[in-house]
Amino acid sequence: MKVLKFGGTSVGSAQRMKDVAKLIVGNRDIVVLSAMSGTTNSLVEISDYLYKKNPDGANEIINKLAQKYDGHIDELYSTNEYKQKAKEQIKTYFDHIRTFTKDLFTLFEEKVVLAQGELISTAMMNLYLQELGVNSVLLPALEYMRTDKNAEPDPLYIKEQLSKLLEEYKDADIYITQGYICRNAYGEIDNLQRGGSDYTASLVGAAIHAEEIQIWTDIDGMHNNDPRYVDNTSPVRQLHFEEAAELAYFGAKILHPTCILPAKLNNIPVRLLNTIQPEAPGTIISNETEKGKIKAVAAKDNITSIKIKSGRMLLATGFLRKVFEIFENYQTPIDMVTTSEVGVSVTIDNRKHLEEIVDDLKKFGTVTVDEEMVIVCVVGDLEWENIGFEARIIHALKEIPVRMISYGGSNYNVSLLVKSADKKRALQALSSHLFND
Ligand code: ASP
Ligand code: MG
Repeated sequence: MKVLKFGGTSVGSAQRMKDVAKLIVGNRDIVVLSAMSGTTNSLVEISDYLYKKNPDGANEIINKLAQKYDGHIDELYSTNEYKQKAKEQIKTYFDHIRTFTKDLFTLFEEKVVLAQGELISTAMMNLYLQELGVNSVLLPALEYMRTDKNAEPDPLYIKEQLSKLLEEYKDADIYITQGYICRNAYGEIDNLQRGGSDYTASLVGAAIHAEEIQIWTDIDGMHNNDPRYVDNTSPVRQLHFEEAAELAYFGAKILHPTCILPAKLNNIPVRLLNTIQPEAPGTIISNETEKGKIKAVAAKDNITSIKIKSGRMLLATGFLRKVFEIFENYQTPIDMVTTSEVGVSVTIDNRKHLEEIVDDLKKFGTVTVDEEMVIVCVVGDLEWENIGFEARIIHALKEIPVRMISYGGSNYNVSLLVKSADKKRALQALSSHLFND
């Protein structure tokens, strides 16, 4: 059994839903769907109005959204029977959203509102497949997807509940389920964060020991550089989980970074595929390394670097701990670290507590901050005994000022910090030196 996940744009219109249906019928797989594109954003906007105690503003968006769905329904189903059925079902979700315009609105209600997008898209697809004569069954994510008290997914619970559901509906031709939504440790409706449907797919794949997890989007796999900045990028056919994790974290939008770990731990290959060109091979992500190859480049924006220089660091123990502790105190993750005998530089992307952090760091040394920086991350087989790879990367950037270089943290990447203003030039230079030579 495979797990196939389709994102918002892949189910973004009645026609796109029909295209997805063509791709999924015929195999007894589990299909994870996001909300139709734009819907979660509209639900966020509705919540925003309700937080601001403006029910009229909320109602306006609710009505517009409901109207849009009426149109989708008319286009998706061919029989009046199913149009009617779908309209009745979708109306219950909108009625539910409307109940929140009359009462106190808190984080708890917001989560319920945000969950409706996936509930609607999956109900629509399930009914559509049934209209086609397919014995499609909905697996309600709210009955099996759960997080624990640390807001981390609870794999044991997921596995148990999902197995029960699959056992109960073992005659189904296909299973449809909601991405993104879950219950938390207290049984309340919650979610796996924006873009979390990829995570759902990976958790479901791990729970059922799927033969493969497929993430379907609108681009032909993971590209070797960012097509918005570089011409002639090409899809990467194979990636190691760690290469994919670096790329996903450092800016490649195609895959949510949380999605990698459950698949990696359970050794389930993840395949990135394109709904617009379903025959294309896409990208396969697995525990295998392709020897001797640099695979891809990605960039992460809005980075701030902080340098702490201190004579006291010399031969001292505990210096780095004290520095890191300050970032921990302000719940600010560090991305890159480079050290010298008399100083350490780190980067962060969350500037919320920058001022306090800098203030606290001044106890330990002289602090310098560089803003509007970009981490450029090069991934591939960068095992340290290979020779020449680091040299090629650095050589590519010979015309560009580089603020930090980090290498040797894993076998799979070199990260470089440059100014945002140099990002495009850096990405282009890396592509032309590493891939187009
Ligand atoms: N619908 C959710 C979002 O827009 C989850 C997802 O698409 O993965 O963030
Ligand atoms: Mg997504």
